[in-house]
Formats: sequence, C-alpha cells, structure tokens
Amino acid sequence: MNQSMSAASAAELARSAFRRLAVLRLPPTPENYARIWAELAHAGTNGQAAPDAHAPPAAGAPSAAQAPVHASSAGARPLPTSGQGNAPAASTPAPPLSAGVWRQMWEQALHLGLIPASAETRLQQRAAQLLQAAQAAAQPQTLLGDNRELWQQFERALAQERGSVDGMLELFSMLVSHVSDVFAGDSAAAAEFVTLQQVCRRPLDGSRIELARSVMEPWLRRQAALQRSALDARATSREVVGSVLRGLGTYLEHSGRFNQSLRQDLGQIESGLDEQALKVLATELLQRGSELHAHGSQLGQSLQQAQQQAEMALHRIRRLESELEQASQQLQQDPLTGALNRRGLDAAFVRDSARASEQQRPLSVALLDLDHFKQINDSYGHDFGDEVLRGLVQVARKLVRPGDSIARMGGEEFMMLLPDTDADAAQRVVERLLQGFRNRRVLHRSTGQRVEMSFSAGVAQLQGGEPFGELYERADTALRKAKQSGRQQVVLAPPENGA
Ligand code: GH3
Ligand code: MG
Ligand code: MG
Repeated sequence: MNQSMSAASAAELARSAFRRLAVLRLPPTPENYARIWAELAHAGTNGQAAPDAHAPPAAGAPSAAQAPVHASSAGARPLPTSGQGNAPAASTPAPPLSAGVWRQMWEQALHLGLIPASAETRLQQRAAQLLQAAQAAAQPQTLLGDNRELWQQFERALAQERGSVDGMLELFSMLVSHVSDVFAGDSAAAAEFVTLQQVCRRPLDGSRIELARSVMEPWLRRQAALQRSALDARATSREVVGSVLRGLGTYLEHSGRFNQSLRQDLGQIESGLDEQALKVLATELLQRGSELHAHGSQLGQSLQQAQQQAEMALHRIRRLESELEQASQQLQQDPLTGALNRRGLDAAFVRDSARASEQQRPLSVALLDLDHFKQINDSYGHDFGDEVLRGLVQVARKLVRPGDSIARMGGEEFMMLLPDTDADAAQRVVERLLQGFRNRRVLHRSTGQRVEMSFSAGVAQLQGGEPFGELYERADTALRKAKQSGRQQVVLAPPENGA
C-alpha cells in the first residue's frame, strides 16, 4: 500500500488507534499513539486480523508495537505505515519521536479519526478548534493539556453511548414484560413475548431491532386501545351508578317524607277527626301520593337513561375494539389479496419458529410462484391477473389448517408457513393446492375461454436454529428447480447439509 494507502483506510486506522487507546485506558501521549498505530498498521499489512482490542499489549515487549514510524513531509498527508520506507517493521528499535512527527500524526488522528468517529457535534467542534490551534502552532503545553481534556470527554461520550444502549435494552425489556402482563391469559401472546425477549438480547443490530419493532407494534396498539376501552367503560359505569344513586336518593327522600306524614295523619285519624278535617287530610294525602308518583316515574326515567348510556358506551367500546383489530390486521396485510404481507410473515415466522423449537415440532415453508403469469396478464389484462392472485389465496385458505399462514412476498410470489408439518407433509399439502388451483374453471369474461393456471413451488423444512434468510434461500432454490423441470410441480429442498 505505502504511498497509495487510501484515505479511507488511513482514517479507519487512525480511528481504530484512538479507540484502542480508549479501550486500553492509555493516556494519549505521542508514544502510546504511535505504538498502537504501528501495531494496528503492522497487523493489517501482514494480512493478520488486528489484535483483540481488549487485550493490552505486553508492556515493553519487543514487538511490532515498537515499529519505527516515519513521517513524510508535513505538507503532504500520507500516514506512515509499518511497511513504508526502508526499515522492516519488527526489527528496528523505535527512534524517539520528533515533535514534528507527533504533531503530524496527532493532527491526522484528529482529522481522520476523532472528528468523524464522534457522534457529538460539541466534541467534533472542540477537536476541530484544537486542530486549528495546533496548526497555528500554539504552545505545546497548552495543546497537551487540551488534548487530554478532549480525550476524557471523548471517553465519557463513548461510555455514555454504551450506557444509553444498555438503558434502551433494559427499558425495552421492561416494556415487553409490562405488555405481556396485560395479555397474561393469552398463550399465543405469551409465546411472542418470550421470543421478543430473546430477540432483544445483545448483540443488538438493526435487523433485530426492526424485527422486534414489527412484532411489538400491533401489541402496543392493542394494549393502548384496550386501556382506552377500560377507561371508557369505567367512566360510564361511574356515570350510571351515580345517576342511579342520585335517583334513588331523591325517591327515598320523598317516600320517607310521605311515610312520615302518613304516620302523622294516621295518628290524627286515630285520635278522631271531624269530617272537614278528614276531607283536608284526604286531599293532602292525594296530593303527596301524586308527588311521590311523579318522583317514582322520574327515577324510572333516569334509570332508563342510564341503561341507554351504558348500552351506547358498550357499543362504542365494541366498535373501537373491532376498528383496532382491523387496524392491526391491516398493518400486516397485503391489500390486494388479503394475504399477510412481508411484515405479517416476519411476525408469524417469529411466533411459529419459537413455538416449533420450544415444542420440538417441525415447521415447513413453501415458496410459490405462478407459472407464465406475465403471459396471463398480457393475454387477459392486469385486472384479470389481479383476480387470479386473489383466487390463489382463496383456494389456499380453503385447503390449509387454521394455524397455517399464507403471505404475498411480492408480485406473484407467495409463501406458506406450515407449523407442525414436516417437509413430506408440506409437499403433499402444496400438491393438493396445486391440483385445486389448476382444477378451477376460470373463464375469461369476454372470450369465454377457459384460462389454464398453475404454479411451481419449493418446499423446505426449518432446520434447528436456521435463520429465515437461509430457509428462504433453500425454498427458492427448490422453486427454481421446479421451474426448470417444466413448472406445475412441487420440489423438496434437501436439508442444509445436503443429506
Ligand atoms: P415464470 O413461470 O417463469 O414465473 O414466468 P412469469 O411470467 O410468471 O414470471 P415473470 O417474473 O417474468 O413475470 C411475473 C409477472 O407478474 C410480471 C408482472 O407484470 C406480474 N405482476 C407482478 N405483480 C403483479 C400484480 O400485482 N398484479 C398483476 N396482475 N400482475 C403482477
Ligand atoms: Mg416471480
Ligand atoms: Mg412467475
């Protein structure tokens, strides 16, 4: 490489040297930096992997770490490499570093390494300022002090980054267990949550996070809506109970007063009254009786209203729940055929493969691709083609078991996920589907012609711990064989080891 060492690899090397210093917790002195830099460059040019960043180099051991570092002229910026110049790396003792060499390397480390490696703008700005100061030939003492300070900040930023990933994982784990508590009675949900917890163990990468997100999203939506329903229901019952109690209170108050006055009146009657007084009393009694009756019917009305309110709230809750169910289905559904979409398939695969490995049961997939579909589109039109795609999903739904899934992978390619089914059984299922699909009497509307339709398929059984991508590849290879062997057939993929 020498002179031609690319800027990208120089940058990577500088970055690695800085990171390794951080990991080894070595002070960023010129000597340490040069030692690590030479060690990494030497490992790279020898075609070896860079040494394990967690293993500190043997202190003082004569090694590539002590390779001389040659600087080229200050204007040009090629980084020194161990293979550069005239000295073999490991055999020459390291010469003392001149201030110029150190400065050049340090500038390059800042320029190529620290500035782009740090995600923090503040840190990047600080490094750029320091670089300017170095270029303006500031006092070495000041530079060294500033450099150390920047280094510590950089270290703190690294630690924070690690800390926030750990924090996020912990938070996610708590969230999963919280949501799984909400669905405690649902065994299908429980299996998904166990898988989710497993998916989110370290090391975490983008595809795992994406997978977890796609499994989690519908559950979170469901949970949020259920909570809303529960609050709604509680508010309504509070309202209903309140109005009934208010109604009862009024009624009891009035009937209590009536009873009281009745007792008084009875007392008066028993003590003997004249005719006139009896008339007055009777009129009063009638009046109070009709007042009480009015209160009674008011109570009846408010009870009726409360009941209506309760029914309306229940209706609202049911509608909300079914909208929610629809929304979470739509998230995972192909709009044209109603089959699962890729997201739905991923979620189903996570669920079914976890269950298969937990219960030691087989799981197979079949990849289906319609034969000469382009020709069907060309001869009968795109709408007719769409109808054929929907037809395939309908036939499949009738033939498979309720726990089986069918997903549209794109275009005219579908995948079936068959839990509890080994490869031979899966082949039989797909052959039955092929027969059913071919036997359909589909007539073209305007010509009345019978349209011949078929598909080819590849079937593969999941091997223990096999990732989805590999299983898909095996099914796809089998599908291609089916196409090559004349289409309209189902081919079994051999197991991974080719047995
Ligand atoms: P083969 O037997 O080798 O699979 O041949 P093919 O014609 O089926 O394969 P090819 O991949 O050449 O053509 C696939 C066609 O599927 C091309 C594209 O126009 C059609 N297609 C993809 N998506 C849709 C869709 O949503 N609706 C309709 N009607 N056609 C679609
Ligand atoms: Mg295709
Ligand atoms: Mg095709």
